[in-house]
Amino acid sequence: MKNKITVMIVCLAFVVAINSCGQQKVDTKDNLSTNMVFPQGEKVTSENFKGTVYLKMFIAGDSINPTSIGNVTFEPGARTKWHLHPGGQILLVIDGVGYYQEKGQSKKILHKGDVIKCPPNVPHWHGASSDKHFVQVAVTNRHLGETVWLEEVTDEVYSK
Ligand code: MN
Repeated sequence: MKNKITVMIVCLAFVVAINSCGQQKVDTKDNLSTNMVFPQGEKVTSENFKGTVYLKMFIAGDSINPTSIGNVTFEPGARTKWHLHPGGQILLVIDGVGYYQEKGQSKKILHKGDVIKCPPNVPHWHGASSDKHFVQVAVTNRHLGETVWLEEVTDEVYSK
């Protein structure tokens, strides 16, 4: 009996250890989920982003289906530059707390489960809140052209 219990405890510890190996590398001190559906991907080095951003591109898009789909993780304070998508974009918020703002509109606060439809050719930016991660799946329609990058989002605009 004692042996059976010991074997069970060892097995349980093993299962827990295996499960924790599959967890994301993202820092969890701001309560970002540790068991994300999609991988975090690689650190983005593009100058079109400020702060620390990770991208896992799932679908690059091609002539038959010109839609790119990628998972973007913004660390607190990280954001895109102002930009526009000629064919529009859809953002599916899958974790954390972030911001989305269209030119001339006030900043929206986004939470897990929110869906944003960025209209074609409307300048906007998106990113994490100042103290929480933000994870979004970006669905970008590229049939009318590539993303046009504009100026940086100043700290004044970001924190307004
Ligand atoms: Mn966008």
